[in-house]
Amino acid sequence: MNLEQLHQLFLAHPTICTDTRKISKDCLFFALKGPNFNGNEFADRALENGAAYALVDEEKFNTSEKHILVEDVLTTLQKLSTYHRKQSKAKVVSLTGSNGKTTSKELIHSVLSQSYNTIATLGNLNNHIGVPLTLLSITNETEIAIVEMGANHQKEIDFLCGIAQPDYGYITNFGKAHLEGFGGIEGVIKGKSELYDHLIENNKHIFMNADDPIQLEKLGSYVKKIGYSTENPQYFNINYVDADPFVQFTFEGLKVKTQLIGRYNFTNCCAAVVIGKYFNVPTAKIKAALESYQPKNNRSQIIEKNGLEIILDAYNANPSSMKVAIENLKGMQSDFKTLILGDMFELGEDAKKEHQGIVDLATSLGFSNVFLVGENFSRTQTDFHQFDSYDSFESYLKGNVPRKGTVLIKGSRGMALERTLDLF
Ligand code: ATP
Ligand code: MG
Repeated sequence: MNLEQLHQLFLAHPTICTDTRKISKDCLFFALKGPNFNGNEFADRALENGAAYALVDEEKFNTSEKHILVEDVLTTLQKLSTYHRKQSKAKVVSLTGSNGKTTSKELIHSVLSQSYNTIATLGNLNNHIGVPLTLLSITNETEIAIVEMGANHQKEIDFLCGIAQPDYGYITNFGKAHLEGFGGIEGVIKGKSELYDHLIENNKHIFMNADDPIQLEKLGSYVKKIGYSTENPQYFNINYVDADPFVQFTFEGLKVKTQLIGRYNFTNCCAAVVIGKYFNVPTAKIKAALESYQPKNNRSQIIEKNGLEIILDAYNANPSSMKVAIENLKGMQSDFKTLILGDMFELGEDAKKEHQGIVDLATSLGFSNVFLVGENFSRTQTDFHQFDSYDSFESYLKGNVPRKGTVLIKGSRGMALERTLDLF
């Protein structure tokens, strides 16, 4: 079956499934291989559970007319998604960066949906499988597709650009995330910039934060750029007001009061404003979309519990996002402040230095009630409370729960610090 025929089949069965536990009736099942499983072995079950066809890439599993044998299921999924994307009239807006991709994606989605039929990456499905699945969710009606691209090593964004062929792009920032895979901060800048490189090569538009010196340097002479800035009148002007706790800002004389905490969320909002303006979404609708957006999934959520104000930011952490979250708490009005910080992963040889850096930052900002959880944090030089495992931290906290003020909970996904919530 060639790509065109497969695409026809997809149009007749436009739901893709890759997990037999979540089969939708009449879907196409793609038998992907993972480190611990071989999807081919589940193809029959997918068909029993209602899949219309199952794509397999091992001859011995190609046992009926409902099985379709291809050379490689993953590559086929990727090629099909590019083919589908090229057939559609939808404009593709891609974004990458170290921090704030999903939040920016959600905000851009909220804003653009005010005026357009828009689809966006579901949740955090931003890799070599998630990007194809996002593209395959484009329908005949879709006008704009917002595609989040994640990466933890070189050439990954370039590869994802090849699949998605973006018309527009935005990089949230360059930070200390996935230092291990990228090879330091220079590696991060190079790796994330592959999105810009791809757009420039294809003469496409780029949205940029003109207050970020790295972005300015990279795009200085590029003509098709649309920038925002808090200070440079050459670019679309957006003014930061404050974030205590919720981000507020003004543009075109309008004040926007978001439900997002942390100054770091300001640039995520700016991206949504400038992209909304570019696509001619009415200003009042941009404001309304940003004011009604509420963060979910443990990303900078504020939770009131038993007299405490808890900032639950346990979705993820790296040195850059940890720093801004701690600085944000420092700036907040509260009579007592507690930090519960979990290890940051994927830092390679920088792990020791970066964990010590966070401890030193908390010390220099005058925090005293600080709980450090995890093997890396427990090896730092400090007087703060240190725990080499979550369990030992939990046992301690049970008898020492703070009763007032504000608590910031932040750590890498693997630390799953949202578990702490039950203790308050
Ligand atoms: P992932 O790499 O897991 O896909 P992401 O880039 O999609 O992450 P988000 O999920 O939007 O990022 O946000 C994760 C956390 O990063 C937030 O809870 C917040 O702590 C921090 N963060 C969000 N935006 C920024 C920003 N602009 N600068 C620094 N940190 C940020
Ligand atoms: Mg994300």
